[in-house]
Amino acid sequence: MKKKILSIFLAAMLLLGLSACKTQQKESSSQIYAMDTIMRLTAYGSKGEEAIEAASELIMRLEHLWSVTDEGSDIWAINEAAGQWVSVTPETIDLLTNALVLAEETQGALDPSIYPVVRAWGFTTGDYRVPTQQELTALLERVDHSAIEVDAEGKRVRIPDGTKIDVGAIAKGAAGRMAAQLMVDLGVKSALLDLGGNIQPVGVKPDGSAWRVGVQIPNYEGTAYLAAVESTGRAVVTSGGYQRYFEMGGVRYIHIIDPTTGYPAESGLDSVTVVGEDGGLCDALSTAIFVMGEERGVQLWRDRGDFDLLLIRADGSILVTEGLEQSVMLADGYGDTKIDIAR
Ligand code: ADP
Ligand code: MG
Repeated sequence: MKKKILSIFLAAMLLLGLSACKTQQKESSSQIYAMDTIMRLTAYGSKGEEAIEAASELIMRLEHLWSVTDEGSDIWAINEAAGQWVSVTPETIDLLTNALVLAEETQGALDPSIYPVVRAWGFTTGDYRVPTQQELTALLERVDHSAIEVDAEGKRVRIPDGTKIDVGAIAKGAAGRMAAQLMVDLGVKSALLDLGGNIQPVGVKPDGSAWRVGVQIPNYEGTAYLAAVESTGRAVVTSGGYQRYFEMGGVRYIHIIDPTTGYPAESGLDSVTVVGEDGGLCDALSTAIFVMGEERGVQLWRDRGDFDLLLIRADGSILVTEGLEQSVMLADGYGDTKIDIAR
């Protein structure tokens, strides 16, 4: 008898458990326009809706801190200070501290002070043009990440008069990482934040399986996928020339600039996808490795060991680092694409 009651009790618990599971699967999603792109936030479970709202607010706040064109932003204040120290938020201190470490580590392939060159090409204004060599040479004299001073204790930043910085290459990744952490703090166990191609998951899918993140075919009219990588929580961030560019005289000029030449990067890569725990690092590295090319990118992977790479070369072939070997799959119709594995 006791046994029977126990089994009825267990069955009831199981049912309750199942229905609780069901409510945990509730999907909430929202789209926001921020940092110059459409962002799609999806979260699962009872805390999802509230967490998405909080994450959206955080992203909007970060956009206002980090926009290069918004007159109230920290970046604007730094750029307008004409060589004076500027007090900024702890978030900006963190962002720039990380950026400077990576600028150093990538020998300046990532350089926030590239901004005047980016602007000369028209990338922030939409006023596209090919600057003269003379103009680029003059602007490049001002490009020097080592001249950016970050006083972490005093929460202030100083750049030389005439230098201008922009965090367009790193802001979305950092925002994604912070939004994901906020969601975790609010009790979310499963979410997918798509910040305009920067994919930042929280945990795994509600059914316990890995997320599948598509990697686009570069330079394709419209959107089509060449491959997908599985992620059980790591961010997947892609940089490619095809995301923003203009064409003039039959030549395509892309928005990622090589700070050594002042010209759009030409490293033999069409896209760089970086997969790692830290979405901020992934964003910075995807831009930097796009500039550095395969050899230096793979060397950096060997040196650091805290991220993986999927590179699409100009000839259409793929290179993945070892850590992705088991989690990369080719899209239908692209099964015969050549894949090399870096070990
Ligand atoms: P997206 O913003 O399209 O995801 P990225 O993360 O690669 O692409 O960032 C590109 C942006 O970063 C450019 O639009 C420009 O504002 C800025 N940028 C371009 N070249 C560099 C560079 N070498 N270092 C730092 N920032 C750069
Ligand atoms: Mg980037």
